[in-house]
Amino acid sequence: MIDSILNKARAGEELSVEEIAALLSIDNEAEQQALFDCAYAIKEEQVGKVAYFRGLIECSNICMKDCYYCGIRRSNDKVDRFLMEEDEIVKEALWAYEAEYGSCVIQSGERQDENYISMIERVVRRISERTGGELGITLSLGEQTEETYRRWKDAGAHRYLLRIETTNPELYARIHPEDHRMDVRKECLKSLRRCGYQVGTGVMIGLPGQTMEDLAHDILFLQSIDIDMVGMGPYIPHSDTPMGLEVPTYSEAQKKTALNLGLRMIAVTRIVLKDINIAAATALQALEYTGREQGLKCGANVIMPNVTETDYRPKYQLYDNKPCLDENSSMCRGCLSGRIKGIGETIGFNKRGDSLHFRNRVAE
Ligand code: SAH
Repeated sequence: MIDSILNKARAGEELSVEEIAALLSIDNEAEQQALFDCAYAIKEEQVGKVAYFRGLIECSNICMKDCYYCGIRRSNDKVDRFLMEEDEIVKEALWAYEAEYGSCVIQSGERQDENYISMIERVVRRISERTGGELGITLSLGEQTEETYRRWKDAGAHRYLLRIETTNPELYARIHPEDHRMDVRKECLKSLRRCGYQVGTGVMIGLPGQTMEDLAHDILFLQSIDIDMVGMGPYIPHSDTPMGLEVPTYSEAQKKTALNLGLRMIAVTRIVLKDINIAAATALQALEYTGREQGLKCGANVIMPNVTETDYRPKYQLYDNKPCLDENSSMCRGCLSGRIKGIGETIGFNKRGDSLHFRNRVAE
């Protein structure tokens, strides 16, 4: 059964929801390995065995949203809130540039006020100018108006990540307050596309109550909106959130289960969407030390090493057990590079590593 689905995928045929759900439901090692090998072969053929780095700058944990799963949600008063100085953000982006990462990602909690919007605009413009437009700039700053997305694009950003989190409306409503709306997120994704960004989205994997069919529909949603990049990762409880209180910290066995499902989700996404960029989320590493490299081995081709100043890292915890909290950026570069070479891949140093899917889409 699994073999015949994989053969179909290899032959380039479309998979049904049932077939995708069957791949996600695999529960033995041999079949799982066959799935990973198939995804890796498709990755190699479509985008090569190159891992692209994006230096991740977590520039502020101030957030107006109150998502029930997220450690930096507005109502978590245990969080020590910070906002980096503009100079600090630029400095970290330049560090990533000097370290030959090719791209950076600026991420933060969500703010929609003009002060914040214009601060980001200035920072993006400075980074773009200082690197002669060479450093790729991805933003991951939540829901904004189309005008804001356009201002940031004009300043020099060219990719944007905004996860849909889940495409099941009931599940979406269970994990968010009522005024956090999925249709707004979907509109934002359309706005981003109209502004000319390479657009990325994704979901959390293994949410309480989420089924394999839900995840299969998530993948088909990504396909239906013709997405350029995917960033998705396992849901991991944070103890100071409403959802974290319901499910206590993962046991070792639960970590393994969550990791395997996360990896299967990456593999199936590669098989179905083929030439897109897929990030191996840091959350994979929170479940197992080599989680991100395992992500590369089953279809991901992007990794986001943290370049945030070590002092800030403990304050930006979306989930428990965030890795590399006590490391600095050079340590992250060294240890990740070694591990990636160890699995036989090259690193796309000094390359922006744009989504081939985006290039093909725009060329059409
Ligand atoms: N505020 C921005 C970016 C920061 S949050 C935005 O909303 O886009 C980035 C991502 O972290 C979210 O999209 C969510 O998918 C993920 N995340 C938050 N809490 C998490 C948790 N407990 N486990 C796993 N991922 C989580």
